[in-house]
Amino acid sequence: MSSTTPPTASIPPTERPPQPAYYPTHPLSPLHPPTALYTRLRHLFIPQSFPSSLSLTFSLTVPPRSGRAWHVPAGSLFRLSTPSGPQVGDLNIWNAHDPRERFWAARTRQLQGSHLVEGDRLWSCLPFMRPLAGVVMDGCGLGDRDVGAGGGRGRVTRWGGRVHDLLGTRCDPYVSHMLTNTPYDYHCHSNLVRSVLPHGLTEFDIHDVLNVFQVTGLDSSGRYFMEASPATETSELVFFAEQDLLCALSTCPGGDLSAWGWGMADEGEKEGSGKEEGGNENGNMESTCREIKIEVFEIVDKEEVLRDWKRPERSGYRGNHGMTIPGGEGQVPVAQ
Ligand SMILES: [Zn+2]
Repeated sequence: MSSTTPPTASIPPTERPPQPAYYPTHPLSPLHPPTALYTRLRHLFIPQSFPSSLSLTFSLTVPPRSGRAWHVPAGSLFRLSTPSGPQVGDLNIWNAHDPRERFWAARTRQLQGSHLVEGDRLWSCLPFMRPLAGVVMDGCGLGDRDVGAGGGRGRVTRWGGRVHDLLGTRCDPYVSHMLTNTPYDYHCHSNLVRSVLPHGLTEFDIHDVLNVFQVTGLDSSGRYFMEASPATETSELVFFAEQDLLCALSTCPGGDLSAWGWGMADEGEKEGSGKEEGGNENGNMESTCREIKIEVFEIVDKEEVLRDWKRPERSGYRGNHGMTIPGGEGQVPVAQ
């Protein structure tokens, strides 16, 4: 489970490193990971329990360079996996009953960290401000690029890269066109748009993503970098749905990012390495694109496993923002 460095007490204030801004200092803080519950949920997948502990209710494979959307009932689990090998995915999440409530990557980054680890939850936007889902199990290590613990939150590469990125966002055809002057219709943004149209959502519902199986970081100049995905045929990432959810995932046209570069539209016209356009010196991007599998599981013994779980309520703030609202002509303001 995740943890952060506890505050230091005896060091002079000017010598203390800045503490995490949202470090939970109170025992009842909602920022503590739900360790007991998530441990029970993780145990549902161990060989002694699985698969009788869970009932598979939905399964789907997102082909390379595509997008799909699916529902997950509150109190269920969903698993993303890479059965064909490394591939990064761009995940969006909404409340299934109200798409105005959606995943808020920036706040989640502040409350949890730049990359998600077991125990972290994915928080929703204002005015809802509550967990939509949580990371129950992270089965995607860094492989031989793992050089050690990341300060108590996951593992790091020699470059400081971590997996399951919240720093970046989805690739999109607008910035692609700006940079390459060519149109391309299968960036993650477009894949997500097409996937949610049958659910009544539009391009304006697409939001900043969680980049699953994606290793990123900031270099010494503070610039965003990406490393190749470390996912293997057995990598998986399991989430617990804290609300009824609509989820959407794009299998990024950048594939495993080992040959990332803008210019996907030119790939078909290139021969050989695809250098400069549609890939880099490591080869052609399209050849690094794979599927991602999605499974939804219902917990068989819900009463026992979810015995102390309650669907999180939206923020208690009433949303008046200091205003009083007239009830009508000649009337006193409505009670606040
Ligand atoms: Zn992408």
